[in-house]
Amino acid sequence: MTTFVLATHNEGKKRELLAILGPALGARTQVLTAGEAGLADVAETGVTFTENALIKARAAAAATGHTAIADDSGISVDVLGGAPGIFSARWSGTHGDDQANLELLLAQLSDISAEHRSAQFRCAAAAVTADGREFTTEGIMPGRLATAPAGENGFGYDPIFVPDGSTLSAAQMSPEEKNSRSHRRAAFDALAEILAAEPNL
Ligand code: IMP
Repeated sequence: MTTFVLATHNEGKKRELLAILGPALGARTQVLTAGEAGLADVAETGVTFTENALIKARAAAAATGHTAIADDSGISVDVLGGAPGIFSARWSGTHGDDQANLELLLAQLSDISAEHRSAQFRCAAAAVTADGREFTTEGIMPGRLATAPAGENGFGYDPIFVPDGSTLSAAQMSPEEKNSRSHRRAAFDALAEILAAEPNL
């Protein structure tokens, strides 16, 4: 049995990761969340998604002796020079206040026309093995910001993000439809491919 520790408390991410890693690495793969592995939170002191994913994965690998996987994600708006970026979860000042975060972003772009509202969801994934091998990947979902929230699914900025090729916001899509093309899916697919080729995880 190959055990991976996922440096997050999020059960949804665990399910998604197991669905990706299982086929890539074989059925004898298990994923433990941070809670199941008894991990303490670490300060995300990096200034890029990749640095923050690596900080979390390194700490989890050191604490457990298993290969650890972590991700860090957010939304980057072109006209804001890539912000909110790593500050996505606390853009309005309060960590995790999704409603306040998206309202502030909409207000900041209130005078910006449709052609300049391009944005991307970004995700960096990192794996660190117990013997110190480090791998990172990135996934991007391109799209644009809507002018008003729509949809009840998803989380974070989903109600105001319209993926390229769609007229629906990410919050109007089914979870399956969003996840099949998401930044997180792309980053984890690429990471699974790397890990599948790596001996002695
Ligand atoms: P985390 O990497 O899961 O901590 O996400 C950081 C923040 O980025 C979240 O709080 C959301 O605001 C935003 N974010 C990341 N991925 C998504 C997504 O798929 N949909 C909506 N918001 C997202």
